[in-house]
Amino acid sequence: MNVQNDILSKYIEFQRFLDGINMEELKSLSREDLSTLKKQLHEVNHRNLPYEIGKIIAKKKEDEFPQILGIHHYPELQEITFLNEATKLEIDKHLISFRVGQYLNSFYRFISSSEKVLMLEDFLVDKGIVEQMFIVKCPCCTHGHLSEPLTTEVWDALKKRIQSMEDEEDFDSLTDEGFLESYCMECDDEIDLSLLKNEKRIVVKKALKLIKSRDTTYDNV
Ligand SMILES: [Zn+2]
Repeated sequence: MNVQNDILSKYIEFQRFLDGINMEELKSLSREDLSTLKKQLHEVNHRNLPYEIGKIIAKKKEDEFPQILGIHHYPELQEITFLNEATKLEIDKHLISFRVGQYLNSFYRFISSSEKVLMLEDFLVDKGIVEQMFIVKCPCCTHGHLSEPLTTEVWDALKKRIQSMEDEEDFDSLTDEGFLESYCMECDDEIDLSLLKNEKRIVVKKALKLIKSRDTTYDNV
């Protein structure tokens, strides 16, 4: 009998034994005896064989496909010339912690240079991995959100409309159309239209939305 049959038959045998335990028989034991048995059962350290086998499989897969030790979820990252290999690998792993449609965290925990962070963001946008989105925030507290995340096109159009607003009525129409809130929940106050029109005061936060799924070439090999 080979080792896998040996393991499997013992596994099944033990499970069958468990399935066959007569609960009525157990009920006839005293509460004290049951408590002791429960404690003793908890003390038995079960070996998690499927987990250990999984680790062996993963190691074998790495030996067979060394590519999976490097950048492979988003192979485009290999083209980046302004970051070192270790950082690019971290970015590759970081990106897979998000689902398509989710907003990414900042890259500053991997890259200290703000110039390089911007270069990376541009790169990811160019490659169609992320989409740049814009959120209008309250010009007073800079925390309250006045808009949903907007695409570049929608934001450009909205910016023009904000600039052309002449009175509160124009502002109300933007609110009615669902583009912009005229009230900040954080400040608990109405937004001052003149602050939004002032390009030095308007606060717009950029957000990156993941739009491309990772490469799954090596998932099921
Ligand atoms: Zn506010």
